Amino acid sequence: MSKGGSSYQVLSRGSEFHQLDGRDAQADNIAAAKALSEVIRTTLGPKGLDKLLVGSDGTVVVTNDGASIVDRMKITHPAAKSIVEIAAQQDSRIGDGTTSALILAGELLTEAESLLENGLHQMTIARGYTLACERARDMLYDQAIPVSPDDNPMLQAVARTSVSGKWSRDASDFLARKAVAAVRVIERDGMVDLKRITRKAISGSSYYDSELVEGLVIDMESSSTTPVSLEPGLPDVFEDATVGLIDDQLTIETATGQGAVSLETPGDRHEFREYEQDVYERYVDQIASAGVDVVFCQKSIDDTVRYLLTKEGILAIERTRQDELEKVGRATGARPVGTVDDLTAADTGRANRVARRDVGPTDVAIVDGGTGVDQVSLLLRGSTQRVADETKRVVDGCFHVLSHTIEDGVVVPGGGATEVHLAGDLREYATTVPGREQLAIEAFADALEVIPRTLAASAGLDPIDTIVELRASHHDSDHTTGLRLENESARIGDVVEGEIVEPLAVTERALASATEAANLIVRIDEIVAVTREEDGHDHDHDHDTGGFVQSTEGYPWAVGHSMGH
Ligand code: ADP
Ligand code: MG
Repeated sequence: MSKGGSSYQVLSRGSEFHQLDGRDAQADNIAAAKALSEVIRTTLGPKGLDKLLVGSDGTVVVTNDGASIVDRMKITHPAAKSIVEIAAQQDSRIGDGTTSALILAGELLTEAESLLENGLHQMTIARGYTLACERARDMLYDQAIPVSPDDNPMLQAVARTSVSGKWSRDASDFLARKAVAAVRVIERDGMVDLKRITRKAISGSSYYDSELVEGLVIDMESSSTTPVSLEPGLPDVFEDATVGLIDDQLTIETATGQGAVSLETPGDRHEFREYEQDVYERYVDQIASAGVDVVFCQKSIDDTVRYLLTKEGILAIERTRQDELEKVGRATGARPVGTVDDLTAADTGRANRVARRDVGPTDVAIVDGGTGVDQVSLLLRGSTQRVADETKRVVDGCFHVLSHTIEDGVVVPGGGATEVHLAGDLREYATTVPGREQLAIEAFADALEVIPRTLAASAGLDPIDTIVELRASHHDSDHTTGLRLENESARIGDVVEGEIVEPLAVTERALASATEAANLIVRIDEIVAVTREEDGHDHDHDHDTGGFVQSTEGYPWAVGHSMGH
């Protein structure tokens, strides 16, 4: 996975100032935001470099996922923080495009700096950027390529573009195929309900052992007091199974149990064991008379109960997570009961099949529900838990990207082609806008080209020559020319032919996020610290900010908006 390394940087400039105003505040904010985008700039695209992140506790993560880096960085500068918040939204809502948004925001601020130096007012810049962003978002539809929900090759291209650079080309292909297959299982009428895809990161095996399982995969975390399986007599597969769900434990807590027996004499103990046996038999009778074949229990199950259930041919699965219990409920139509005594046949559900098997270090149960609520699970493997978790994170983004593609039905060319096209259009559009905003729109166009410039640089191409060539071919209305960065080669060419495409929603949100972040910083011209560290005691923030203008965005610092320059 590692392709290089650069060290992890901490931005902590914010704590040093108490009050900055006018150009100082602006310069400081812009510098912090640019520093942030500088850190992740080299990770963009399939040839992006990895960063080695070293935590304060010595843990090490290698990744080139911009969102994942920013998420783990300790950022204290308020302006940089506000940008990170915007990027985090991009990541959680859209699942991709975070690095692009951050790099674009940094470039918009670099452009803003020189516009400010040339005497443009901050509000003029913000207005120009907003106009440019709106125009670019409209123009995106010019670039749109329609995709139908069953267009597997196109869906795979989108998935591969979204995960490219995280692994080798082969590995990206492998994962893209799995992700598309998973989404196709649950897609209904062009809608994708991501709740029906279960993702599990399981260590102890190669990435290529990752597998797609039709049905719901539930961990069978067996109690640690059970060294050997208590269910050797049970089949591994239950066809047409009746499923029961219990939201309680199947054991007696001796100290506080309902029996409240004292266990002082051997007689007492004997009596307690008989009582215990009675209760357990009652549990088992209840479950058996409800006709249950497989019972999922949210808490623990006593070994004796499990043994008795086994004798009745019933598989008992304990410590099923609440959300998984609900998923089993949805998939089978079973209703969880609060205590076993309430369990009746009416509460049970049906599964076409419940199978148990082991996946690396864990045993799982696979539930194939019979209610038409389809579920699919992707078991992501990795040599260590950390690797498997990082894979899961990238795959989560991939599923979002696929759901946008299917639900919106449109993609745009990647590899910088769309940005070059939009830049060309914006330069023409700028001439139609009266007033100084025109300059900001031109600056926005220049900033957009940071994406192809960065992609070119990452592959060792000359960024200036590349931009010149791309501009020329877009001028000849060739909308799909961009950078094609493949395993060993890097060239300028038709990116759609090269299957480098992204959901329109990703590009659109990245543009909007970057503009929002840049404008937020451009508009700030005063920073007022509301707590002073040397004071030695904490101020009550609400009280202390009384004299200042509090940011309406809910950011944890006070900002004075002074508009009247
Ligand atoms: P982000 O967090 O913005 O998604 P990535 O590191 O995933 O950042 O890089 C995305 C950029 O890389 C997009 O501009 C995308 O079009 C581009 N890209 C992806 N695959 C290729 C490829 N094979 N060739 C050229 N550009 C690519
Ligand atoms: Mg990406």
